[in-house]
Amino acid sequence: MRKFKTESKKLLDLMINSIYTNREIFLRELISNASDAIDKLYFKSLTDSTVALNQDDLAIRISVDKDARTLTVSDNGIGMTAEELERNLGTIAHSGSEEFKAENAEAQGDAVDIIGRFGVGFYSAFMVAKEVTVVTRAYATGQTYRWTSDGVEGYTIEEVPATDPAYKFESGTDVILTLKDDTDDVSYDEYLSEWQLKDLIKRYSNYVRYPVKMMVTKSRQKPKPEDAGDDYQPEYESYEELETINSMTPIWKKKASEVTDEEYHEFYKSTFHDYTDPVRTFSLHAEGALEYDALMFIPGRAPFDLYSKDYEKGLELYSSNVLIMEKCADLLPDYYNFVRGVVDSADVHLNISRETLQQTRQLTAMAKRIEKKITSELERMRDDDREAYEKFFENFGRGIKYGIYQSYGMKAAELGDLLLFWSAKNEKMVTLAEYAAAMPEGQKAIYFAAGDDRDRLSKMPVVKSVLDRGYDVLLCTQDVDEFCFQAMREYVFTPVVEADAGAEGAEAEGETPAEPEEKRLELKNVASGDLDLATEDEKKAAEEAAKANEGLFSAMKDALGEGAVTKVTVSARLTAADDAPACITAEGPVSLEMEKVLNAGPMPEGVKSQRVLELNAQHPVFAKLQAAQEGEDADKLKLYTELLYDQALLMEGIDVPDPVAFAQNVCKLMA
Ligand code: ADP
Ligand code: MG
Repeated sequence: MRKFKTESKKLLDLMINSIYTNREIFLRELISNASDAIDKLYFKSLTDSTVALNQDDLAIRISVDKDARTLTVSDNGIGMTAEELERNLGTIAHSGSEEFKAENAEAQGDAVDIIGRFGVGFYSAFMVAKEVTVVTRAYATGQTYRWTSDGVEGYTIEEVPATDPAYKFESGTDVILTLKDDTDDVSYDEYLSEWQLKDLIKRYSNYVRYPVKMMVTKSRQKPKPEDAGDDYQPEYESYEELETINSMTPIWKKKASEVTDEEYHEFYKSTFHDYTDPVRTFSLHAEGALEYDALMFIPGRAPFDLYSKDYEKGLELYSSNVLIMEKCADLLPDYYNFVRGVVDSADVHLNISRETLQQTRQLTAMAKRIEKKITSELERMRDDDREAYEKFFENFGRGIKYGIYQSYGMKAAELGDLLLFWSAKNEKMVTLAEYAAAMPEGQKAIYFAAGDDRDRLSKMPVVKSVLDRGYDVLLCTQDVDEFCFQAMREYVFTPVVEADAGAEGAEAEGETPAEPEEKRLELKNVASGDLDLATEDEKKAAEEAAKANEGLFSAMKDALGEGAVTKVTVSARLTAADDAPACITAEGPVSLEMEKVLNAGPMPEGVKSQRVLELNAQHPVFAKLQAAQEGEDADKLKLYTELLYDQALLMEGIDVPDPVAFAQNVCKLMA
């Protein structure tokens, strides 16, 4: 017996037990080696005219012997000489394939697309096998050799005589694994199961370019006997058939013009286990220092667990058509976590187990490009298929808003134009750009109202008062909306100049058409802070009213009790006699809606907004309040104040602090 070279024993042990975390990838490694071996022979046939090949015969074969508990991976590739066996399988981390690539790179440029590179994949077989036998015959030699090892001590190499049933008459290699015995924890028997093997081949080696064939059991109806009576029941029998398991050509390497939508959809549904067609399919082909193909999909519906912590984002990562990672999370930002797809690159640096990537620099570069591509694809969808886009936004818009919030607004420039909100004026979804473009002269900000019901929001006094001024209000009903707006702070709107409007005139005067001026529009909650909407006259009137009624307001504030409101004042929002008599607004950074959202979770944060009770000085009720104050009727003033406050809360969708007291107050009024 020959001992493994150098510190191989230790290394081998390390490898089998430490490098791989996933036992089942051994099959991927052996199939990849078989594919490489066929590739090499094929490559030889291209450069050496004495090599005659029938391309249709090139194949990889998987077979099992349940009684002997062996699994065999065979190929009719280039095979190995005794010397190559010694060098490639006797030396850990020696890659004959890497060598081959280097030798032939000059002759063929990039055409040598071989999978092997580290010289360790083969040994993964010892994760499942107690003994591995390799029977091989190198091309254009007359000898067959047998290499055998238990993966611990060493290996033997012997020549196989022509009388031996294992003798090979054609070039190629059989790798025969005698599986380990089952333990309490691990069932190695599963690698003898037809179903399991099919699954592994499809999962990891579906796009290996040569057919991977296996005997599969099928069922068919027996022919109907001629003398069968009316009550004949069809009978079935099982039979075996050699079947190609992998689909070979990766769909992402095909030109988009050669693939039908149907085929893309089928690929999407079977690969990502969805039953609905994707709404969008798009691809990316990058050339240069880092080459890769990406095929991506936007699902037609949100997976049920999208917003749970179990949801895993990521794209499938392939290297030379072999699956490396099922969900490579680094390729997608969180806000695009819904995108499904495949990225294939022969250039990514893998670590030797192929299970993790060696460095992230390349990934970062790819992720950047992919993100850009997704953004532009979504923009295109927004512009040319609005209906589909609205549906998409319903499904995934929350994540995009969350992305802006989480980046503290840093992503606002990229993502802001993807947002849609309900326009109270137009009663449909609009983008911020559409809102801004439709603003009347003199409007200085984008107005929104936040709450959980669109209908109720549209009836709120503060919303109505802004609408009455001719300004649109965005009705925001998702809890993340206001947080997203607060992170954005403003929206930068660049008006689109009509291409030919006035161009003639400008040319005649020899001027270049003016650059469209960008407008920075603040995002303002109609129920918070100073909206700065009132005219000078209105402002003056409000100021005067505030001064004249100082005593009334402080009495009302006291009547509501400690901490209920920070201020009672004249409203600059409610200014007409037919507006509501009062409303609640908030000062400072926390709006009423945010207070609700922040305290609604399982762990209420105890956040409190600074409430302001605003009174409509034009409303008849205001005169009643003044009269009560002047008549020094403290009970009446308290009753009116509490009622107005509770009413205003109810209109805001906030529970009144004491419903019983509220009901009693109403009765007092009636009595
Ligand atoms: P890698 O594929 O990364 O080179 P492996 O450990 O998988 O490393 O294989 C080591 C070497 O053994 C390969 O580079 C190749 O030269 C040789 N080899 C393995 N399997 C086969 C095979 N089926 N036919 C011919 N050569 C093989
Ligand atoms: Mg290999």
